[in-house]
Amino acid sequence: MSNQKLTSFNPPQRLLMGPGPSDIHPRVLAAMARPTVGHLDPAFQTMMEEIKAGLRYAFQTENALTFPVSAPGSAGMECCFVNLVEPGDTVIVIQHGAFGGRMKENVERAGGHAVLVAFEWGQPIELESVRAALETHASAKILAFVHAETSTGVSAPAKELCDLAQAHDCLTIVDCVTSLGGSELKVDEWGIDAAYSGTQKCLSCPPGISPVTFSERAADKIKQRQSSVQSWFLDLSLVMAYWDNSGGGARTYHHTAPVNAMYALHEGLVMLQEEGLEEAQMRHHAMHQKLKAGLESLGLGLIVDESHRLSQLNTVSIPDGIDEAAVRQYVLQKYDLEIGAGLGALAGKVWRIGLMGSSATERHVMTCLTALEDALK
Ligand code: PLP
Repeated sequence: MSNQKLTSFNPPQRLLMGPGPSDIHPRVLAAMARPTVGHLDPAFQTMMEEIKAGLRYAFQTENALTFPVSAPGSAGMECCFVNLVEPGDTVIVIQHGAFGGRMKENVERAGGHAVLVAFEWGQPIELESVRAALETHASAKILAFVHAETSTGVSAPAKELCDLAQAHDCLTIVDCVTSLGGSELKVDEWGIDAAYSGTQKCLSCPPGISPVTFSERAADKIKQRQSSVQSWFLDLSLVMAYWDNSGGGARTYHHTAPVNAMYALHEGLVMLQEEGLEEAQMRHHAMHQKLKAGLESLGLGLIVDESHRLSQLNTVSIPDGIDEAAVRQYVLQKYDLEIGAGLGALAGKVWRIGLMGSSATERHVMTCLTALEDALK
């Protein structure tokens, strides 16, 4: 038995400019400190409906089946795959970074057959290769892809991919963890069938909640399942007894929702509405332009071509002879600034500088440029 004496934990105040989490606005942090109520308290239930409305705005959808999963983005991913993939289903998965690889694993663990269409990390998705895979695997039921690849900084042509999927009678599962609130995203207009996100990126809320949304077509496929969903926690037919009261019946207990984290998400959605979705997306782009110009004046370049580059995740080439980890450590110690390392195929080759949510401000950009200039001199 440990006798270690514990004392309160006081974290350092960092500027978070990595791949997530991003800085949390004081209003969101303050919301979290409000008194906890029961997860079936009438006041909480009213707020749950507001969260669903706020998420519909963020996702640009009328989908009834829109709610926050009480677990991180990885659980939102799993929620989409375990409910939509039935044993034996063929799913075409586009991999252009780390997170597409996780989609493939999810398909296989759900008993599906994954067909991978892979692209070099940092390079654009070529629609012709996806079209060819859809034609070759005509029995495929689902096309899955990551809208904003956080490991590379590449944006997927989501609308075009959804058009292709529909032309081949496939549903789409789209990872919107890093795109929600930061990139243009139109679930209904583009015909996305299932999307999941995370609260810790462009919504600037604490990590640990995953907004999801499902179209009617997706809901129908789930209703027609022959086998039960192997995950109890993520089975939509069970969890919706808590999140859906559209039938007018009483909500019932499924799990104890993270009440205070939901207050934070609610406040984040209030702030998104106040700013406006398009304005928030424009702010991310404007900060990206400032960062890019400043990086160029330091002799630093981005690896992703402008035509398919994300604003909120900037992958910066590491100049020859620079110890990339030492630079990250220097800016963390001297400037309290977190920037991210490269992941997977890009490890050691890039820094990942996030401009997400409350971290997409001039103060962040200027501090980052000052810190990098200092570290590299
Ligand atoms: N998908 C993408 C594109 C991500 O960037 C992340 C996290 O960084 C995830 C999924 C997983 O989210 P979480 O870490 O919240 O489980």
